Amino acid sequence: MAKHEFQTEVNQLLQLMIHSLYSNKEIFLRELVSNGSDAMDKLNMLVLTDDAYKGIEFNPRIDIVVDKEAKTLTVSDTGIGMNDEDLVANLGTIAKSGTKAFMENLSGDQKKDSQLIGQFGVGFYAAFMVADKVEVTTKKAGEEKAYKWISAGDGSYEIEDAEKKGHGTSITMHLKDEDAEFLEARRIESIIQKYSNHIPFPIFMDKENFIPAETDDEGNETKPSSTEIKNEQINKASALWTISKSELKDEDYIDFYSSIAHDSSEPLTWMHNKAEGAVEYTTLFYVPSKAPMDMYRVDYAPGIKLYINRVFITDDDKELMPTYLRFLRGVIDSADLPLNVSREILQSNPVMSKIRNASVKKVLSELAKMMKKDKEKYNAFYAEFGNVLKEGLYSDMGNKERILELLQFNTINSDETTSLVDFVSSVDEEKKEIYYITGKMALNMLKNSPTLERFKAKGIDVLVMNEEIDTIVMPMVTEYKEYKFVNAADAVLDDSEEAKEKEEELSKEYEGLIGEFKKTLGESVSKVEVTTELTDSPVALKIDKEDPSYMMAQMMQQMGQMGEAPAIKPILQINPNHEILSKLKETSDINLVEDAAHVLLDQAKLFDGMEIDDTAEFVSRMNRIMSKAL
Ligand code: ADP
Repeated sequence: MAKHEFQTEVNQLLQLMIHSLYSNKEIFLRELVSNGSDAMDKLNMLVLTDDAYKGIEFNPRIDIVVDKEAKTLTVSDTGIGMNDEDLVANLGTIAKSGTKAFMENLSGDQKKDSQLIGQFGVGFYAAFMVADKVEVTTKKAGEEKAYKWISAGDGSYEIEDAEKKGHGTSITMHLKDEDAEFLEARRIESIIQKYSNHIPFPIFMDKENFIPAETDDEGNETKPSSTEIKNEQINKASALWTISKSELKDEDYIDFYSSIAHDSSEPLTWMHNKAEGAVEYTTLFYVPSKAPMDMYRVDYAPGIKLYINRVFITDDDKELMPTYLRFLRGVIDSADLPLNVSREILQSNPVMSKIRNASVKKVLSELAKMMKKDKEKYNAFYAEFGNVLKEGLYSDMGNKERILELLQFNTINSDETTSLVDFVSSVDEEKKEIYYITGKMALNMLKNSPTLERFKAKGIDVLVMNEEIDTIVMPMVTEYKEYKFVNAADAVLDDSEEAKEKEEELSKEYEGLIGEFKKTLGESVSKVEVTTELTDSPVALKIDKEDPSYMMAQMMQQMGQMGEAPAIKPILQINPNHEILSKLKETSDINLVEDAAHVLLDQAKLFDGMEIDDTAEFVSRMNRIMSKAL
């Protein structure tokens, strides 16, 4: 017998199971059944594809046995089983990134944490929600020795040699007194039907054994009279995705979602599709109502299971669907793939790429339908997954247009979001330019950017995109149908000779003030110039795209180089039509001009979401200006 300590994360998880999770304990059974089902899936594939497993008997079934007297509940499977090394690696440590991510997300606030757990597959350790001692007896397929793993969930576990007939795993829970409900036949059956009705293997239970024990005259419990085992199958064991849509109710889909996504909240929607033709396959995709916890981690766990003619192949292949749809949960099943397909082959397999391409189109078109038919639902989807979807704009060029049409945009002319299809109906039909502004800041702030004043003055609408991902993807999105995307800062709205002459004239008029500003601001700006494109703001900043340091910084960013990019000196644009500037031009108070130059530059920086260099100086200049005005 050997004693082992649990990894720290496992201990944390166990503490949580034991002390905080009261609300939805029944899911422990879903988790154990799903582990048993996975173990049989694994063996099934090996028996079919690996010569080493040829002689092994594959007789998949899960048995649930209760011993009322001993107060134990046992869940057994005839799957792949585990040897001693597997036991240490699988039931003593947490290897999966999702689980680690989950542990990192714990706040210590038990109430919040137990809500988090709903989003997350709790796995084997969920047994400790209802048991104060758990025993796992297991024998790996193709090996001689069996082992027993025992723990009371108190920091350590033991592994000893054991006896077991066939391969597979048997998990016995010594139920806590308060969890005696899980010794009742009807309760177990209803939990199985709720969560595990459509796992592809039969689950048996001896219902007779569950008849309440008879009591004698003194009220003492006597053994149940029936000891004869009458196993009955208590689940349908028909892979849900193989059943025709018309025979399935919403509840069936929702229950199945719970079992494959380990998520107790209802999915937002699902898409069930059977394709017939050159390649035949079935897909069932779910959109969760909340983003999976590891969605923004590089090592996120993919949510799609691949089956070949109902034989489970993998649930750990990120290539099954594109990364920008990584929030999907579900199943792809096709009889047209070779069973012994390896992962490398899978990726280059033409059948697989057909299925994948068609599935992506199907999902995108279903989302488009949802956008039209059920805006409220779509908004809920978009709030959770809109930003992930945008990643497709650069990773899936073939579907760029479809993805663009799924996006929701804020604009300057409306408080409601709009789709691109609607937006282009108001775009100038001659120029065919879609103007946009990006910036990672509050929406209102970005909407008030001085860059947008000239558009507002002319009534031209602009897309306002304030998420970080927008600043990354939008420069790469150059067109939509016959329309060009143009950054608002670069747009030329009025290129008439007249306008140019007007600007030159004003530049002359402001030569003196521009000189003073440049002298005062020195190296903090590359240039001071007059602009006729501002209406309300006195000043604005502009980046000169021809500036060598700007080009250098862009290049470094594109090549993914970190480190010190050269500082880019902006152009300070002044608005000659603004009272502040026209008055400054006339004043002889040189100190006032100096203070104003600095305050105006800082103000322009603040508007662009930048920090100002010296807050104390900004305030004292501001105060001097105010006292002069009083
Ligand atoms: P998950 O199932 O999400 O990977 P668990 O904590 O439930 O996480 O289980 C950890 C690992 O233990 C599994 O990945 C699997 O390798 C192993 N395991 C659990 N239950 C069984 C079982 N019934 N048969 C074989 N292996 C199992």
